[in-house]
Amino acid sequence: MSFTVPTSLRVEVKDITREVVAEVEKSKVKNGIVLVYVPHSTAALFINENESGLVKDLTWMVKEIIPKGRSFEHNRIDNNAWSHLASALLGCSLTLPVTGGRIERGTWQNIFLVELDGPRNRKVAVKVIGT
Ligand code: ZN
Repeated sequence: MSFTVPTSLRVEVKDITREVVAEVEKSKVKNGIVLVYVPHSTAALFINENESGLVKDLTWMVKEIIPKGRSFEHNRIDNNAWSHLASALLGCSLTLPVTGGRIERGTWQNIFLVELDGPRNRKVAVKVIGT
């Protein structure tokens, strides 16, 4: 199972909770785990609160996580070394518990796709494993 997320900025933090919840519901799994994965080397995932100010703060953090003022080796072929490095630090998969057919997450925990080299269409793969 997978879905596509269109992004519109070079660096963007996008809430994909609703789409992931829909995939878990479709799976009919009541107890198990859900793996959320982005098959990209210049995107990432994280969990945090979807509050508009915090989303701006998270976007700032993502932009600052790797200092830009250095000449990266990978830029000689692709000019997006910064995007790869930020993705490597943030990670490209999440594993969450599914209990009673619902993802166990805190009230303020939403699932975010992090675009690091947009705009692009990003694939999000979702595997729900359980009974
Ligand atoms: Zn590259």
